[in-house]
Amino acid sequence: MNIQLEQIFNLEGSKKEFDFCFEPEYSLSDDISLDAPGIAVSGKIENNTGIVSLSGKAEFSATVVCSRCAEGFKKDFQVEFHHLLVNNLENDDNDDYIVVEDSVLRLSSLVCEDIIFSLPLRFLCDEECKGLCSRCGKNLNSGPCDCKKEVDPRMAALLQLLDD
Ligand SMILES: [Zn+2]
Ligand SMILES: [Zn+2]
Repeated sequence: MNIQLEQIFNLEGSKKEFDFCFEPEYSLSDDISLDAPGIAVSGKIENNTGIVSLSGKAEFSATVVCSRCAEGFKKDFQVEFHHLLVNNLENDDNDDYIVVEDSVLRLSSLVCEDIIFSLPLRFLCDEECKGLCSRCGKNLNSGPCDCKKEVDPRMAALLQLLDD
């Protein structure tokens, strides 16, 4: 979704609302596969005494992969975003602003960046997920495996530490 902002930049007090849904052109993360219909985005852009701000939220559901047991599970996401927009920047060292070239805001790609930035480093299906047995590969959430009792308890403690 590209939004034309020339009018907003030029007119104090003007406002534009948006509400749309899109599927990103690239994957957000290797651990996430988006459910249909994609990412729902809503919010507004307004010119308040010459300062143009963008605020809104993105919502989506996805199947994500647990980093401990590798099982997929459903998760709902909600990411809020706020930015100040400018159409030119005299001091281009300033990271606080988004520079909107030619007054066309590429909102979908900005939202994707915000989502990726907000994602946790890893997902767990459950805080208590027991993961996979490091020896036989069995998913220990579905019950203990046969080799578990052979593991030296000191080794088990070490593995637990590494896992955390
Ligand atoms: Zn898990
Ligand atoms: Zn095992």
